[in-house]
Amino acid sequence: MNSESIPEFAIDPLRLEFRSAETELAFQRHHLDRSRASLRLTLVFCSVFYLAFAMTDVAVLGYGREALILFVGRMLVAITATMGLVLIRKQREPIAGLWLVASAAEVVGMATFMLIVWFRPSEIPWHGMSLCIMLIVVYIFIPNRLIIAKGIAIASTAAFVLVAVEKGTVPPAGTLTMSMLLLLANSFGLVAARRYHRLWRDEYRVLMDLKQVSLRDHLTDCYNRRHLHETLLPTEIARARRYQHWLTMVVCDIDHFKSINDTHGHQSGDTVLKHIASVLRATTRRHVDSVVRYGGEEFLLLLPQTGPDGASYVAERLRTSIAGSPTIDGAGRSIEATASFGVLAVDFSVVGSDVTETSLIAAADALLYEAKASGRNSIRSREWPGESPGQKVDVLVQTTCEAPG
Ligand code: GH3
Ligand code: MG
Ligand code: MG
Repeated sequence: MNSESIPEFAIDPLRLEFRSAETELAFQRHHLDRSRASLRLTLVFCSVFYLAFAMTDVAVLGYGREALILFVGRMLVAITATMGLVLIRKQREPIAGLWLVASAAEVVGMATFMLIVWFRPSEIPWHGMSLCIMLIVVYIFIPNRLIIAKGIAIASTAAFVLVAVEKGTVPPAGTLTMSMLLLLANSFGLVAARRYHRLWRDEYRVLMDLKQVSLRDHLTDCYNRRHLHETLLPTEIARARRYQHWLTMVVCDIDHFKSINDTHGHQSGDTVLKHIASVLRATTRRHVDSVVRYGGEEFLLLLPQTGPDGASYVAERLRTSIAGSPTIDGAGRSIEATASFGVLAVDFSVVGSDVTETSLIAAADALLYEAKASGRNSIRSREWPGESPGQKVDVLVQTTCEAPG
């Protein structure tokens, strides 16, 4: 399936944001450092220029009341920007804070600009040129939601044209030319901003795609062993320790898989593997349990917050689901298969830090071998630690059925 057609990555053509609020938030978080850095740079740049241009107020208006008012306005822009940048460093909700600071700086900047135009009407064509540059800054350089940037840019353009008409220092033909140029700046600014917003989101989508590919096994689409050791296992163990929860590990190995390959061919063997992987995923909780392809025909499942009773119930359901749903291969043949299970339920409110990833896998593996030795299509479950103090391992459940055929 093409990732573009996955609903969570669909982009709203008007807002140019992901339709899924969850994906949009994840995207914004992913870009947070970059957005913060570019907001900082742009606002510092804009503040310095706003203040430096105070000399043009004095040049045009002299040292008077109006120049002072404009200086206060320019200072206000710099203060808004500085306070905003300080605030977003301490924000608990940094993304909404970032947009708020960007919008506040844009609104105060544009309002001060209108005051400048009002007090210096003899230079309206120059102001029109400044506004064109400011519009590009709003559309492209200040990181903000497109919809807000568009609103501020269009409202500022309309306000400027109204002030220019009100002041009447530019003849109607000149006002028309200026308005057309501003329309052009808005159009190109908007087109460029839309491109940026789409490109960033396309890049994010591809990145997430690659991430998924790197976490999963190509044949079965289960998580791969690297992801188990790098992320899943350390995360689940740490979580179970912190909240003193149970964590169950299930090791599942397909019985006599070699003979399935030998009888039906390697390709049909692959189809069986894919089918059993999908049964394992369908029988466990989505987004909570993890199904990992641990080896050739061996899977490892992590069931968070699952104690001995839940573990035995799930394992039995997995066993019967696999035994009860044969695979139909490419040639239409029905291939029966069974699997054996080693199930280890660990009580993290009791176990100490001596329980390691390796010791858990080794204990679950030992259970699997017991299940194999007892005739296959069976489950061996144990609780860690055992019920009596000092006894680490205790047999809880033992189910053995005859393998089909
Ligand atoms: P047991 O019941 O003791 O687990 O026996 P088994 O035959 O399942 O175990 P064994 O370890 O003897 O054989 C595993 C087989 O799995 C051998 C190997 O060729 C096959 N295998 C491993 N990976 C794949 C794969 O990706 N596709 C296919 N078709 N076969 C695979
Ligand atoms: Mg096997
Ligand atoms: Mg095996």
